[in-house]
Amino acid sequence: MKISDILAQRQSFSFEIFPPKGDMSVEQAEAVATELCKNNPDWISVTFSAGGSGNSERTADIGRRIERGVGTTALAHLTCLGSSRADVDAYVRRLQSAGVENVLALRGDRAPGRDVVDFAYASDLVPYLKESGLCVGGACYPEGHVECDDLATDLDNLKRKVDAGVDFLVTQLFFDNDDFYKFRELCDRKRIKVPIVCGIMPFTSVKQLQRMTFNCGASIPARVVKRLVAAGDDPIEQTKAGIIYAQEQIVDLANNGVDGIHIYSMNKPAIGRAMHDALVGCGYLPA
Ligand code: FAD
Repeated sequence: MKISDILAQRQSFSFEIFPPKGDMSVEQAEAVATELCKNNPDWISVTFSAGGSGNSERTADIGRRIERGVGTTALAHLTCLGSSRADVDAYVRRLQSAGVENVLALRGDRAPGRDVVDFAYASDLVPYLKESGLCVGGACYPEGHVECDDLATDLDNLKRKVDAGVDFLVTQLFFDNDDFYKFRELCDRKRIKVPIVCGIMPFTSVKQLQRMTFNCGASIPARVVKRLVAAGDDPIEQTKAGIIYAQEQIVDLANNGVDGIHIYSMNKPAIGRAMHDALVGCGYLPA
């Protein structure tokens, strides 16, 4: 099913998983998706890794397993830096033969050896993908993208991307809902009218929180730091603090009428279940 059709009907609930690398097999990834699916998500997205970890070809395979085996909607990510039109054509063919109708069009992070070939920005990729009849999502950044000097310029670029044909947006992770509410207001003023799905990542440890915020430039509010100080050095208490914080965050988002909630599940079904239960508790999801 196209995600644009889902979002036209209801506020969504979805998960992100990443495709297997290292020792994890495709079958294990499918097992994670199957467990997550017990929470009745509207879709499961699958990340894409260009170069490096070499697992990008598995994104389409996992997408096929989500659509055909697990039996829910898949959203396949695609980054375009370093890719030619022929690479993108081949990926689109793989998605279409896998029955995947949704793609998240991304530029990807700059890295040595990953130069512009045919697409410099996601806004170049979006119209190209739309020609294939896919439902196309884009990324957005409530605090501004890490490379962009100011939020206003980033919003101009976002507007260009949306006008190029984006059907819906998914946010970068954020920990302060007020950042999102201000961003939503700014998008509205700029006439960015597509649904904006909130991407939320429950943190599981101090180290993981530091790594992910450093990578994407999201800020850590003092109240997160206080929770982690209270958790001390105990890894179980740190994980508990992250799950409770994210539960509070998504309940507040649900109560403020967001278009959708997308959980960066980090391939952990227990995190998916905890987020589901919080949303059932506040009436966002049916029991
Ligand atoms: P763009 O929209 O192209 O923007 C990139 C930067 O360029 C921004 O600073 C923007 O303001 C600026 N810009 C845009 N257009 C122009 C223009 N015409 N002129 C000048 N400047 C411009 N990465 C992965 O590798 N794999 C994944 O699976 C993945 N999934 C993600 C999912 C989500 C929901 C999000 C939020 C991010 C994801 N990322 C992923 C990370 C993403 O690839 C990086 O954040 C990347 O740096 C930017 O990608 P983008 O598509 O937002 O880029």
